[in-house]
Amino acid sequence: MGPAEPLFCLYIYGGIYYNCVMTLEKVIVASSNEGKIREIKEIFTGVEIVSLKDLGFNEEIPETGETFKENALIKAGTICKKYGLPALADDSGLCVYALDLAPGIYSARFSGEGSAANRKLLLKRMEGLTDRKAYFECSVCLCFPDGKTIYGQGRTYGRILYEEIGSNGFGYDPLFWSLDLRKSFGVATEEEKNSVSHRARALKDLADKIARL
Ligand code: IMP
Repeated sequence: MGPAEPLFCLYIYGGIYYNCVMTLEKVIVASSNEGKIREIKEIFTGVEIVSLKDLGFNEEIPETGETFKENALIKAGTICKKYGLPALADDSGLCVYALDLAPGIYSARFSGEGSAANRKLLLKRMEGLTDRKAYFECSVCLCFPDGKTIYGQGRTYGRILYEEIGSNGFGYDPLFWSLDLRKSFGVATEEEKNSVSHRARALKDLADKIARL
């Protein structure tokens, strides 16, 4: 998808159909994470991607939603309203079946003490559990200044390891054995992980929906 390709959408207003042409030339990515921004740039080639860092925005947007989708909307909506430009945000986390899909939306705040402590706590909670099935989920939301929102969703499935393998990636990666890659995300290269990641799948889902508008 490039800047020269307009997004055609049909509005129904007062019983009359209007053809509306939106051009997606510039999008603010409501994130300061360099890895995410790189991944988004790879998928949305030709679209000018502006990060929160570029805008000098460094406030914390409270993630008060109860689902990944709600949190993505809160972040994208806040930034879109503030700057009057299309804004894209994601929210993601790890869902473990044997823990009733925890830590889920609380993945980043699981232990309250950062990533290494989160992994330690996960291993502790899973002591004695043989059902290690889990997935990473990601919701992305693209908000437009006219109030229109488009969502994308993606998952990647795997198993929680009994101990950390590798130190690549971030968050729970060293504890996640990917069914697609047949190895720990902790030893996968960035390229390998991006080829199967929940975030890449959510962005692809979003791009497919935009293309179908
Ligand atoms: P956020 O969507 O960046 O807020 O991520 C929420 C949390 O989920 C992160 O802090 C990680 O703990 C976890 N998480 C999300 N995606 C991944 C991933 O790809 N690998 C490892 N951990 C992840």
